[in-house]
Amino acid sequence: MSVEYRIDLDAFDRNLRRIRETIAPAAHMLVVKDDAYAHGLAVLVERAWREGVRWFGAFDVATGAAVRAVVGPDARIFVWLIGGVDDLAAGIAADLDLGIGDEALLDDLARVDAGRTARVHLKIDTGLHRNGIRPERWEAALARTTALVAGGRAVLEGLWSHISEASDADDDDARALFLAARAAARAAGLAPRFSHLAASAAGFARGEFREDIVRVGAFSYGIRPAGGPGEAELGIEPIATLVATVTHTGPDGVRVDVGSLHGLPGVLAGRFDVVTPAGPRRVTAIGPTSLTVTPWGSAAAGQEVVILGRGAACTATDLAELVGTIGEEIALRISPVIPRVYDRDTH
Ligand SMILES: *Cc1c(COP(=O)(O)O)cnc(C)c1O
Repeated sequence: MSVEYRIDLDAFDRNLRRIRETIAPAAHMLVVKDDAYAHGLAVLVERAWREGVRWFGAFDVATGAAVRAVVGPDARIFVWLIGGVDDLAAGIAADLDLGIGDEALLDDLARVDAGRTARVHLKIDTGLHRNGIRPERWEAALARTTALVAGGRAVLEGLWSHISEASDADDDDARALFLAARAAARAAGLAPRFSHLAASAAGFARGEFREDIVRVGAFSYGIRPAGGPGEAELGIEPIATLVATVTHTGPDGVRVDVGSLHGLPGVLAGRFDVVTPAGPRRVTAIGPTSLTVTPWGSAAAGQEVVILGRGAACTATDLAELVGTIGEEIALRISPVIPRVYDRDTH
């Protein structure tokens, strides 16, 4: 071992249970974009399915199909980045729930003959302007959807949106737009079964945002919000630990086999501690493939140093806060060339 990313699947289970209890009776859609936030898609999806998660948020059609291959026919898999006719056909063939935030895609849907009915979740743009149908185009989109439903091409399964979770006031405005859009859909004779607009933060903090489904990514992996409540308060725990071995010792520092190319931003040098066999030591320099740590007396090549995450001095969000960003920005940088090792708790 020179560097490993260790993932504790029991801790993942505990987070999933915590989320389920917190958001009940809403369902937890486990968001698994970006290779399950860099923890490894297949293993985490399989584990979550066994733990009772029944909805997965997979981002694009290719990822959705990969999730389908892991969990089999009974899971609901939601995707929301869809590229056009071929992508729609692939999504329908994989029996995915399709998040549609673009009128042109409704037109495409009318032209796809996939041999089965598409399950559509129509997205209203409630202010984030990250796709989504603008309120002034909502009536037109409902009319197109009504025609698709009447023609047997689609069933309207859900209405959804994505909110900033940056300020309660903005989120309240977004929710008001969402509720108006849903009322308009019902007035048009449409009967979506599922509403969803919250992710981790609002799903925990604001009950009225939970609706039927909460799309939770970050908290599932124990990544707390920057500048927000801590893990203990939320009842979640980081599930992954970055560990590396000592490769060289000297009076000026101990070299450890992980660096910026593995995902540790160089600007963090001098600003955080890692856990060595002798206790916490400061990282003094970050090179491309190694970092330098303040020496300790018994340092020797091969010793393990805990860099980041579960059991370390700093979590991804702790490091993120040092450089003014969010925990995902650190967690997603952990290089895919670092082996993921499952079920080795560092405690
Ligand atoms: C990433 C994402 C989520 C999950 O957000 P977290 O803050 O990680 O829980 C939910 N919905 C959409 C549309 C997303 O892109």
